[in-house]
Amino acid sequence: MKKFDMISIGGGSGGIATMNRAGEHGAKVAVIEGNLLGGTCVNIGCVPKKIMWYGANIAEAIHTYGPEYGFNAQNVHFDFSILKKNRDAYIERSRSSYDTSFKRNHVQLIEGYAKFVDAHTVEVNGELISADRILIASGARPDIPNIPGKEYGVVSDDIFEWDELPNSLAVIGAGYISVEIAGLMHHLGVKTDLFVRKEAPLRSFDPYIVQSLVEEMEKTGLQLHTYKIPLKLEKLDDGLLEVTFEDGSTHRAEKVLWAIGRRPNIDQLNLEAAGIKLTEDGYIAVTEYQETNVPSIYALGDVTGKIELTPVAIKTGRLLSERLFNGKTNAKMDFQMVPTVIFSHPAIGTVGLTEAEAIKEYGQENIKIYTSAFTSMYTAMDNHRQMAKFKLITAGSKEHIVGLHGIGYGVDEMIQGFAVAMKMGATKEDFDATVAIHPTGSEEFVTMR
Ligand code: FAD
Ligand code: NDP
Repeated sequence: MKKFDMISIGGGSGGIATMNRAGEHGAKVAVIEGNLLGGTCVNIGCVPKKIMWYGANIAEAIHTYGPEYGFNAQNVHFDFSILKKNRDAYIERSRSSYDTSFKRNHVQLIEGYAKFVDAHTVEVNGELISADRILIASGARPDIPNIPGKEYGVVSDDIFEWDELPNSLAVIGAGYISVEIAGLMHHLGVKTDLFVRKEAPLRSFDPYIVQSLVEEMEKTGLQLHTYKIPLKLEKLDDGLLEVTFEDGSTHRAEKVLWAIGRRPNIDQLNLEAAGIKLTEDGYIAVTEYQETNVPSIYALGDVTGKIELTPVAIKTGRLLSERLFNGKTNAKMDFQMVPTVIFSHPAIGTVGLTEAEAIKEYGQENIKIYTSAFTSMYTAMDNHRQMAKFKLITAGSKEHIVGLHGIGYGVDEMIQGFAVAMKMGATKEDFDATVAIHPTGSEEFVTMR
């Protein structure tokens, strides 16, 4: 039987990072991957999405802003197959880079799906593999609503298989994926409608920013429909799909995307064989040190349902390996102040607490809010003005920055540095003491009064 110090079930962002770091410290490790190495982010998530978002931005530059800068945008032809070919080739190249790091860190790749036999053993393709420690980093997959006709809809994984773009798309859902895919498809020329079941998309984000996104969607013709709960989906004789909502209204589109959240990949793992416990929501329950209830078994990333972001899975994994194999006995992930960007049109960036969260944590009387709204200079030439809106939330007499939120041109590349400052405990005074870079959007963050 093959025997290792540690193995990872799952070769996505979390599993690869954990095993590379463990291997770097001399542990005998393996990654077990049942599908494509790199997992969700590289193959069917962050990377192909971001490339399509760039494509959508180019379309916007050519058709919306180009003419205002004197460029003639007539007879410009968009061939989606070229975007797809180059996108897929880029992903293939990214995937092959894992070979180099695996060789360097002596990480063995085992291809196949793993299931538990006991707390130290898994079975892959009929072969038993044992390890002192086993990491579950099996990720998550898209959820679909349990309604008649659900099988006619697609999920985000399917979008990256498309050879052609549809003429029309109905996106159902209200989180990151719905907003990002709706935005990029709309700007790539697909007639797109976004249906949310409550009053707005992105309800866990600061409403100041979300309101601005909704206004920008309206201006660019991306139709947002609120209070729409899907009841059934039917395929019509002409091939179109028809969604019926609980309020009796209907909508027809060539494709319907379910983007209503994700579920942990645990069904195939035979968790009972090892006695692993789940949370109430069905994720793998872990301590702050990523320990499950079984001493030899750890879990991290999307399968634990904490903050479902690639850098979070990577950092958590590296810290776990530092603790297990490099003597850093207290190393553990800090889930506070995790910066995040939504690649919407325009982009949204956020670090720390929303206003509502800050009030809950510090009390209304102890927080102070600063906002700034202006037209992004890039869009200010003529008719297609796009707003940028920024918000700072400070707490306490020293005015520590506890929340930073922005929407607008370039925000995606603006906030990483501010996240460093906030992690270091920056105050409003520190922000004010910093000289602005002019003319940029980010200077607003250091000049707010
Ligand atoms: P995954 O990357 O999902 O890896 C899990 C791996 O385990 C998979 O490869 C799977 O095949 C494998 N596996 C499952 N079961 C088994 C088994 N029994 N045996 C062997 N292998 C198994 N995050 C960002 O930070 N930025 C973004 O821009 C971003 N965009 C996204 C866009 C989309 C459309 C999606 C869906 C997600 C996006 N995310 C983004 C989220 C990000 O992809 C995830 O948070 C991240 O991939 C989680 O890493 P993980 O290691 O936990 O799981
Ligand atoms: P999210 O959990 O972000 O959002 C899904 C939303 O859909 C829910 O919050 C809910 O919003 C709505 N919803 C739930 N059930 C239904 C239903 N039955 N009918 C209609 N709407 C429903 O999930 P996503 O799939 O968008 O993304 C998963 C995670 O992946 C994200 O949370 C994020 O962590 C990660 N991700 C990160 C990206 C990035 O970093 N840029 C990009 C893409 C994904 P409500 O309650 O308001 O109706």
